[in-house]
Amino acid sequence: MDFSSDNIAGASRPILEALIGANEGPATPYGADGWSREAERRLAEIFEHDLVCFLVTTGTAANALALSALCPPWGAVFCHAEAHVIADECGAPEMATGGAKLVGIEGAFGKLTPEAFAARLENFPRGPVRQVQPAALSLSQVTESGTLYSLAELRALSDRAHEAGLPVHMDGARFANALVALGATPAEMSWKAGIDVLSFGATKNGALACEAVLFFDPERARDFVYRRKRAGHTLSKSRMLGAQMVAYLQEGHWLDLARKANAQAHRLAKGIAAIDGLRLAWPCEANEIFVILPEKVDTHLRKAGAHYYAWEMPAVWPVGTGTGAKPGPGESLVRLVTSFATKEVTIDRFLAVAAAAA
Ligand SMILES: *Cc1c(COP(=O)(O)O)cnc(C)c1O
Repeated sequence: MDFSSDNIAGASRPILEALIGANEGPATPYGADGWSREAERRLAEIFEHDLVCFLVTTGTAANALALSALCPPWGAVFCHAEAHVIADECGAPEMATGGAKLVGIEGAFGKLTPEAFAARLENFPRGPVRQVQPAALSLSQVTESGTLYSLAELRALSDRAHEAGLPVHMDGARFANALVALGATPAEMSWKAGIDVLSFGATKNGALACEAVLFFDPERARDFVYRRKRAGHTLSKSRMLGAQMVAYLQEGHWLDLARKANAQAHRLAKGIAAIDGLRLAWPCEANEIFVILPEKVDTHLRKAGAHYYAWEMPAVWPVGTGTGAKPGPGESLVRLVTSFATKEVTIDRFLAVAAAAA
């Protein structure tokens, strides 16, 4: 019963088979292989926009390198205070940008509001030599709280950024999970919503190790080949990345995987909400569930072999439809994540143990 993350799953069968297929015969190295080119062509089709695609092996590299293309060493990147780029990447964005500052802004549900963003921007006037200069806005979709920005919310934030002359980056480590949950098109959730550069994740949703940095304006990607190479993410056998991405996109495989992961999360969330004494911290919107567990249930679940992370309390506790009261004494906040590989029997067993202990 492992709900610690979606990357505890292996790769999907079709993606592994595509790798075996791509293994045959020679292929040009360093990104010039046929699969990587095909991946770029298909992404342009799916996103209904000209784009430049760079494949890398981790989400951290995708984010850090994407931000380095948008932000000078003396720049500021605005993001949510709990964002992966500021909290979970060991300073990679700071390193890749050559020392830019990440400015975290608090907000309920793991989300930024245009008002909070605008207010923080006011603290960073352009000009003063003593201060980093505003350079980019980075948004996570799905957010670190497992929630989603609506298309209108994305648009409102990117409008604010663009008005201030800042490009917008999206950390889409779980882009597919958000997309199928919103029922949006890839174009609507990216460039049409004002996203300039996208970290398009595939690993957490079924690839072996493959993420793409997508530039909707080729001009911004001008020096990116050098950035990727310097970072050690230009694979000599780059076909292995290209083949993963092509298989991921083939016949909507990526969307099927994300629908499965989200459906499993909703099954789990529904089951938890039905158990007396347990409550969701806020609604499940994609494939992550945040739950408030009494200590005795937590202990029983862990003894029964369940794995999940205790989650740090967000700075702003959300209020609204479907939110639960803040954890009280003897209660803790935990995160449960499902993937395309999560089985119903695992969910049902988890729920049975929790119900018996509650
Ligand atoms: C997992 C994750 C990433 C990428 O992490 P890597 O472990 O470097 O692949 C980036 N952003 C978010 C929000 C994530 O959850």
